[in-house]
Parts: sequence; C-alpha cells; structure tokens
Amino acid sequence: MKEFDVIICGGGPAGLTAAIYAQRGGLSSVVIEKTFAGGQMTQTYEIENYTGFAKIGGVDLSMSFLQHAEGLGTTVVYEGVEKIDTENKIVETSAGNKFKGKAIILAFGASHRHIGIDSEEQFRGMGVSYCATCDGAFYKNKTVVVMGGGNTALEDALYLTKFAKKVYLVHRRDEFRAVGVLVDNVKKSSIEIVYDSVIDEILGDKNVKAVNLRNTKTNTITKVETDGVFVAIGQIPESAKVGDEIAKTPQGYILADEKMRTNVERIYVAGDVRDKELRQVITACADGAIAADSAIKDLF
Ligand code: NAP
Repeated sequence: MKEFDVIICGGGPAGLTAAIYAQRGGLSSVVIEKTFAGGQMTQTYEIENYTGFAKIGGVDLSMSFLQHAEGLGTTVVYEGVEKIDTENKIVETSAGNKFKGKAIILAFGASHRHIGIDSEEQFRGMGVSYCATCDGAFYKNKTVVVMGGGNTALEDALYLTKFAKKVYLVHRRDEFRAVGVLVDNVKKSSIEIVYDSVIDEILGDKNVKAVNLRNTKTNTITKVETDGVFVAIGQIPESAKVGDEIAKTPQGYILADEKMRTNVERIYVAGDVRDKELRQVITACADGAIAADSAIKDLF
C-alpha cells in the first residue's frame, strides 16, 4: 500500500490544480487518472475562455498543467479507480494497487451522454464519434451530422467545417442552449441547422451512410446521407465508483459546500463531477484549488 497525504481521483484541470495547491501547501499527493492527464481538455481543439490565453490548444494547456503539477512533486498514476473506502481513505485501482491517504479529492469529471439507440453502438468508431477534435480530420471533403444544441455541439460543428464539405447541426428544439457568440458564428457559417429534430436511426453497412432524423414536433422521418455522426448531447457525471455514503443529486453529481467538502469527513469534490452551474476549465481549476485548500486546513 502506497501512502500520500491526499489522493486525487482524476487528472483533469480540477485534479491537477488540486495537486498543485496540495503540494504547495505541504501535502504529498497522488493523482490517479484512467486515460490522459487533462481530461476533456485533451479533446478540445482550442480553448478561448481560459483567462490570459485568447486561444490555446486543449492538449497544450493539458500538458502545461501536468508539467506544473509534476514539477511540484505530485505523483501521477495512469490507472482507473475501482474502489473507494471513504472511511479509511483507501483507493484501489483497476491494476490492484492500493493508495492510502488522509484525505481524498474526487475529481472524476464527466463523460459523453449517448443517444441510446441500438445503431449508435453498432456504428461506434465506424462513423459514430463523441470527439470532433479526435476524429474530425477523417472527414475531409465528407458530410457529417452533429447532434446537440449546447456549447460542445456548436464548437464541434464549427470545427468540423475546417474539414467536411457539408456539416448538419441537428438540435431537438428551435433554440440553442449554447452561448450567443457561438450561435452567431454558427448562423454566419455554412452549417445547415436542422431544428426540432433528433437522430432516430443511424444507417449503413460497415460504415455510416445516412441517418433518419425524426422531427420532435411532427414525428416525420427524413433521411439525410452522411459519412459521420458526432454526438454532443451533454455529459453524465463519472461518479459510478463513488458509494452511496457520499451525497449526490439524482443525476449522480456529487454535492458539496462552497469549500468543496462533501458530507463525509475529509472527502472533497472538484470539477465537472460536482453539482454546479458552470462547467468550464477555469471553474474546475477553482474547485480544485478550494478542495486542496480545505484539505490543507482540515489536516493541519
Ligand atoms: P449541455 O450544455 O448539457 O448541452 C447538451 C445539449 O444536448 C443541449 O442542447 C440538449 O438539448 C441536448 N440534449 C441533451 N440530451 C439530449 C437527448 N437525449 N437527445 C437530444 N438532444 C439532447 O452539454 P455540452 O454542450 O456538452 O456542455 C457541457 C458543459 O461544458 C456545459 O456546462 C458547457 O457550458 C460546458 N462547455 C463549455 C464550453 C466553452 O465555454 N467554450 C465548451 C464546451 C462545453 P436542450 O438544450 O434541449 O436541453
């Protein structure tokens, strides 16, 4: 069993910032991250609202966060969290390693919501994607359909115009949830907006060839030929490994006070997995800083 003062579950902006503050506050820390440090930032082509950077690549910002945290002495372990013993502050990973701490910061983030139709799973990776930054370049001179009406969907649709010859943006209502500047940019672009519609079925052989769109008001089905489908309909919190002793919303977001303290002593939450209004890189960083500061205060 390896021992650290603080165990941080998740290596996105919240987790890495918590590590920076913990290390600077004199606490040893380990960040347990199942895939890549940076979390969802690594899937963002450009970030335009992180203070001080008018424009910065998501991977570049992720790497500088990681270097900053590692430079201060945090340990980063690339393993999934399997079990959390909140009473004894022990975290077990999928590789069977155990980490014991005095405090735990839950910074798991959130993952992509799926449409929930059979053909989505059938064509996953064969034309169905959840990451425009990762897969957009495969659609040079092709047609793509983006589904969603939030910031991610509109950013993805705009990004895909760099490659695709035709981009459809399909949204279930007639008003976008995304911020005004993105809506304006989409409306000025070549993107074809299809309001009041959802993807009812994805069609193809080995790869995607078309989608059936269902009008949410009339139930009419319209077939649209496409080479790719980008699903950007929001997120679900990554809280499956967090037991019921930690208070959550019915959707699974973890509840905390403004000091990031959960209802269990010395267990804190930070970032997109927390119940809050604004999920951004900068608010995840702020959560991480506050969570680590609370841990420092509670441990000394
Ligand atoms: P989001 O804001 O929750 O938007 C999800 C969109 O998908 C909504 O338009 C929603 O429609 C639609 N939707 C949800 N479930 C659906 C379903 N089953 N079928 C069809 N449509 C469905 O999610 P997001 O865009 O992924 O953003 C997540 C968070 O990250 C937000 O807080 C967002 O502000 C933030 N973010 C920020 C930036 C930025 O600041 N540049 C970039 C990306 C993400 P309704 O509108 O009808 O509910």
